[in-house]
Amino acid sequence: MTKRIILYILALTLLLSACGEAPASSEAGSASAAEQTATPGTTAANSGTDAETTPEATHLQPEEGWQVITIQGVEMLWDGYRVKEPQVDLDIDSMHFSDFGDDFFTEVYPVEIERYTLCEGEIMESEVLHIKGAEEGPVMYIVAGIHGDEIAAWYAGRLLRNVTIKAGELYVLAPANANGARNRTRYVKDRQDMNRSFPGDPEGNEAERMAYAIYKDIERVKPFMVFDLHEAILYTEGRDFLGSNLIYTKLTGIEDLYFDMFFATEDGEICSNPYSNNGPGPIGSINNTVANQLGIPAITVETFRGFAIERRVHDQLDIVQYAMKYVGMR
Ligand SMILES: [Zn+2]
Repeated sequence: MTKRIILYILALTLLLSACGEAPASSEAGSASAAEQTATPGTTAANSGTDAETTPEATHLQPEEGWQVITIQGVEMLWDGYRVKEPQVDLDIDSMHFSDFGDDFFTEVYPVEIERYTLCEGEIMESEVLHIKGAEEGPVMYIVAGIHGDEIAAWYAGRLLRNVTIKAGELYVLAPANANGARNRTRYVKDRQDMNRSFPGDPEGNEAERMAYAIYKDIERVKPFMVFDLHEAILYTEGRDFLGSNLIYTKLTGIEDLYFDMFFATEDGEICSNPYSNNGPGPIGSINNTVANQLGIPAITVETFRGFAIERRVHDQLDIVQYAMKYVGMR
């Protein structure tokens, strides 16, 4: 308990110092975004030298080529196509569930852990963690960060490697696109988009070989569902946008879970804002392919990259935790 409080204070302190070091424009950005993430008081630290000046001091200023827009109460910069991602100050190697909320995976269960590697020795090599609970139960497979620049997706995935479960089995692949994650790019290499490469090809390019390895592993494991964690950065004025979205192609066997989860976001029970539903996943995506070719339903989670990283990771964790509780894994 005490440890959690200390971690929380530590996280808050980091957030405060991060605000202080950021350049003027993104400082305001992270402060206004922080207001949305249940960390009251952080804006007070956004004082600088002109704490007494007008309220506009906390607003974003337009930059050349960028205009200020407000989405779900958060100001962000937009170039007419995509939004500018707020500065990210989290250290991936020292994150804890408690940095993102008090009620994430607090109960600890005894588990067995197995590890194995996909595409060993190649640039896309990544480890799958297989976590087994003490009781029999459902098998869930999480693929996080097929696009390496969608960092909240694989940050959440990295955290989810620490989950313990009382029942069933959990497979976590994070980041699914290791080379893309290293280079903060969507692609595996050049312009190879893994999420248009499924079911992959063992003789193909890097994205196709990794897609094939993931596809075959899911086929072998036969989970009741796949979570496919992503993020969105595009925004079209006056239209629904892909951020805050739960995408599916088929929901075979998980209809109740999906719609209860969707309505839980609508009701404010989970996540920082209501999510939209969307589908089917594009041809060649993991979502579309495992649903249509393996009969395994997949939910693609899209958080919006205009929001603060803490909010995005929080939402990803909230959704996965909801599903695990729903099916009795936790
Ligand atoms: Zn993506």
